Parts: sequence; C-alpha cells; structure tokens
Amino acid sequence: EQVIRQIAAGEVVQRPSSALKELLENSLDAGSTQIKIHIRKGGMKMLRVIDNGCGIKVEDLPILCERFTTSKLRSYSDLQSVSTFGFRGEALSSISYVSHLTVTTQSRGSPLAYKAHYKDSKLVHPRSQQNSKKQEEPAPIPVAGIPGTQIEIENLFYNQPSRLRSLRNTNQEANQILHVVRCYSINNPQVTFIVTQDNKSLPLLHNKSSTGDQSFERIEEIYSLNSKKCLFNLQINTLINSTFRLKLNGSVSNVKYFKKQKEKAFKKQHFILFINKRLVENNQMKSQINKIYKQVLNTKGKPFIFFNLILPPECVDVNVHPTKKEVKFLNEDSIIEIINKKIQKLLSNELD
Ligand code: ADP
Ligand code: MG
Repeated sequence: EQVIRQIAAGEVVQRPSSALKELLENSLDAGSTQIKIHIRKGGMKMLRVIDNGCGIKVEDLPILCERFTTSKLRSYSDLQSVSTFGFRGEALSSISYVSHLTVTTQSRGSPLAYKAHYKDSKLVHPRSQQNSKKQEEPAPIPVAGIPGTQIEIENLFYNQPSRLRSLRNTNQEANQILHVVRCYSINNPQVTFIVTQDNKSLPLLHNKSSTGDQSFERIEEIYSLNSKKCLFNLQINTLINSTFRLKLNGSVSNVKYFKKQKEKAFKKQHFILFINKRLVENNQMKSQINKIYKQVLNTKGKPFIFFNLILPPECVDVNVHPTKKEVKFLNEDSIIEIINKKIQKLLSNELD
C-alpha cells in the first residue's frame, strides 16, 4: 500500500518544478501578494516557498497531507478556482511520500506560528528526534513566525533512486523552476515573486514590483523586450453559447519583431497557457496558432504566446489524469477558431 502510494506520488510530482507549481498555486489560492522561492541544487536538495497568504489553521495541520480532505480547510471564500480541476487535494500528500516536508504557518488572527513535519501523508516528529524513544504523538510545534506559510521540501525523491538518477542535471531543473515562476509571474502581475538559488538571488524578474500591474509589463521585464513594439494585447470576452462565456486576456508577438527574430525571447517557442489560473498545456491550440503564424508570415519561426483563459469550471475536462499537464475543454475547436481569427486579423493589419 505504502509503496503503491509512493509510486503514484512520484507520478504526480515528476520533478522539482512540478512540485513548485503546486506550491505556487496554493500560495496564490491563499491570496498571497508576495511569494519567495529558495532553491538548492535545482530544488532537489531543497525547495522552499514562503508566502504572505491566509495561512493554515493549527487544527488543520494534522490532516493537511491526507488525501482529498483538503480544500475544505480553506478559510476564505474563493473555492471556485480550487475546484476547477479534478484530482485536487493531493499535492501536499504526494509530496510527503517522496520528500521530507516541513510546513510552518501562521493563520490570520493566530498569535503564533506552528511547524509540522510530514512523511507518507502523516504528521511526524522532527527528523532529529525520530530516533529518540519519545512516546508522545507528533504534534505541530509552536514557533515564532510571521503571518503566512512556508513550505519546505527537502531531499526530493530520496526514496526513489531511479528518479534521482534521471534528475542529476540540477541546472536544468533550476531553469525549469525559473520557467514556471516566470509563467506565474506573468499571469499574476499584482504579486511579487523573488527567487534565490543557493543563496544568490536570481536576476529573473521585475524588482519594480509596483509598476502598472499588467501582464505585458511583466513579459517586457522578464524577457527584456519593448512590449509596445513586440507584443499585441489580445482580449476576448464572448459568449460561445447561452451558458458558456469565454474570457481571454493575453499577449501575442508582433509580426515585425517576430520576423526579425532578433529578440532572444522569440528564438525559442513560448506558448504559455493558463486556464482558470492553472498553468496547463493544450497541443491542439498550440499547433493551430503556430499554423496561423506560418500561413500569414510564411516563416518557420515560432511566435510568443501568453494566454490567460477563463472558462466555466464545469467545461474543463476533469477526467484528465493529474500527471498530464495537457487539458481538454468543451467547445475546444470553436474557441481555437475564435482566437485564431483574432490573431489573423491582428497580424494582417500589421502587414498592411
Ligand atoms: P488542494 O490545493 O487541491 O486543496 P493541496 O494538497 O495542494 O490540495 O493543499 C492542501 C490544502 O492545504 C489546501 O486546500 C489549503 O487549504 C492548504 N494549503 C496548502 N498550501 C497553503 C498555503 N500556502 N497557504 C494556505 N493554505 C495552504
Ligand atoms: Mg493545491
């Protein structure tokens, strides 16, 4: 049973960046406005996320890592975003099966912070005390703290030797982590993100956190672009049918810059897709949009695309397995067509 859970957990959490993605989503769900990320050895030795969100109540800590018991714990009302995809409520649980997990949290109104250690979904004593002959039940330990939550993952995959072997390139893992943080930073321009690696701070983002709060400004800062020349804003707000409203907020690369392919950021494919605040993939959409660019411009280069898509939660396919980032949704074809028409129009206007 335990081994099975371990293997299943290793599928939900595939590498440090997939664990980080879950932690960032939790921090954002908790209403954080500042999120700090520390990594050591590409997140393999240590991955720590500190937020200033609503915190977790001490009475919820003992069951925090039990599967599917969560989401109920939340002390604020925005549950919709959480229930968007199925198979929720298992991120922390999964992480606890493949790492040493420590949670320190102070919820609003609590005078103290509490620290709790987890292993295989259960609250445990701190590692330093695990060998002493203590008889008491493990319990959260009161500590001094500041409101918010710190989640620390140490020794990821310590119990999965084959996974450890396949993740030996820590630079690659660090880059993947940066990519995930950049994506969330673009989609959450009102939140400050700070990343430090092995105690050096990474020149990754915006430190002028208080600019215009716009995604395209984040893109500009992150990729050192002049967004006014490089990007179009794309906005869609339309009814697909009587009950289905599509809202899209995004940026797509501008033809002139795209053609020159000068900007480093545009040399690589960038297709950043958020559906209802979750970073996902949809290959159908990606290839259709690439096709439009190719048709209009007659070049092989890849466009820069960032989409923040808001769909009715019940229209997103919850039957997709959580390990697959690929997501399906209702009316996919008509939605892609609407987006493509809009892009085509923007591109053709630009070419005139
Ligand atoms: P889910 O997010 O799907 O509920 P998780 O395992 O990711 O499942 O998280 C479990 C629960 O722990 C969340 O529902 C939330 O109540 C609480 N939680 C996790 N991280 C945070 C955080 N950073 N701030 C506040 N609450 C959190
Ligand atoms: Mg979660």
